[in-house]
Amino acid sequence: MKLEQMYEKMGIRHDILSYASDIEKSLKERFSLIDETAEYNQMKVIHAMQKAKVSDIHFAATTGYGYNDLGRDALEEVYAKTFHGESALVRPQLISGTHALHVALSGNLRPGDELLSPVGKPYDTLEEVIGIRDSVGSLKEYGVRYRQADLLEDGSFDFDAIRQAVNDKTRLVTIQRSKGYATRPTLSVDQIGELISFIKSIKPDVLCMVDNCYGEFVERIEPTDVGADMVVGSLIKNPGGGLAPIGGYIVGKKDCIDRASYRLSAPGLGKEVGASLGMNQPFFQGLFLAPTVVAGALKGAVFAANLYERLGFSVTPDSRQTRHDIIQAITFGTPEAVIAFCQGIQAAAPVDSFVTPEPWDMPGYDAPVIMAAGAFVQGSSIELSADAPIKDPYAVYFQGGLTWYHAKLGILMSLQKLADAEIVEIPQVH
Ligand SMILES: *Cc1c(COP(=O)(O)O)cnc(C)c1O
Repeated sequence: MKLEQMYEKMGIRHDILSYASDIEKSLKERFSLIDETAEYNQMKVIHAMQKAKVSDIHFAATTGYGYNDLGRDALEEVYAKTFHGESALVRPQLISGTHALHVALSGNLRPGDELLSPVGKPYDTLEEVIGIRDSVGSLKEYGVRYRQADLLEDGSFDFDAIRQAVNDKTRLVTIQRSKGYATRPTLSVDQIGELISFIKSIKPDVLCMVDNCYGEFVERIEPTDVGADMVVGSLIKNPGGGLAPIGGYIVGKKDCIDRASYRLSAPGLGKEVGASLGMNQPFFQGLFLAPTVVAGALKGAVFAANLYERLGFSVTPDSRQTRHDIIQAITFGTPEAVIAFCQGIQAAAPVDSFVTPEPWDMPGYDAPVIMAAGAFVQGSSIELSADAPIKDPYAVYFQGGLTWYHAKLGILMSLQKLADAEIVEIPQVH
């Protein structure tokens, strides 16, 4: 059977496939640059694994207290080496990205300290961790104050506002790499480095933490390479490579990681406890696969940006911009289009392809939200997934794809649904 016939069997019309193939052909160079970064990062991970002498004994499960968990210790050494940090905390006991960020923050801040975000409002879930929105157990309740310097209109740093915000109480600066669901651009690692240098020039002993969610392995360097004291992320995003079924990581300066570990377990216990419960093997193997998985997700994002931009929709980042995370936003302008797009992503999934996502009133959101995810791991967003609040400007955020072929199918299917609903017309390819 020809590939075209196979796509037809999957429900993709011939004209959609030819339009998409034309776009794909134009992206050869982009894709080969993505592959080169993946190749570089693959070497980085293998090098770290070889230096840490990873061996099959490290895949054994421990239980209970988890004393002398050789695999856990080796895994943390591999993360430290991959990210060029001194130490790392990589655990199934870190439930999510938000949890890892909470542990990093609350482990390193004390009552009376000030926390500063020099890049505007942080990710939604962090608002409650910090206490920007009142919540039980927030840092605010523990006497940690919060300050924020917003980005300038063009997305650049407001150096004057940052200089004014740093004072003798400022202990920790939190820098979010990815835009999340905000409209600002994602920061490059070089920009993060510039920001850290500026902050340390004002106050050298301030700790700089980077929320690295969705950014890992998109570039050849990570924020730890440009002066970050701590870098934090989720294992059901990029670095888990799709295989980690849970987990988070914190990597960076030894003192920072130690303080975080006393918060995660207990004062006096720190990194010495915490059984890995059989998770070491998928954590190692997921990290090993992560550079290629991220490359697949990036190709999907670039492909979608080009495909939808040519149909006249506004896309962020646009079709040509260099990437610093795996998220792609597409503004459709109508609820029908947003819903059709998400239903296409769902219909292309390996899991739950037969369910139809609908908008619903999710707690914590001010508009109904539609989510498409047919994932092996609940909530995993390194797997192909999309979500959109049903409100103006009717933008969809989508990310992931464990393989480029699946990301491609998802995008083709989204376009098929938009064509079926007569929202778009497919340009003829000659
Ligand atoms: C996903 C994400 C988080 C939170 O991670 P969860 O695993 O969903 O708790 C924090 N910050 C950013 C920028 C994210 O993208």
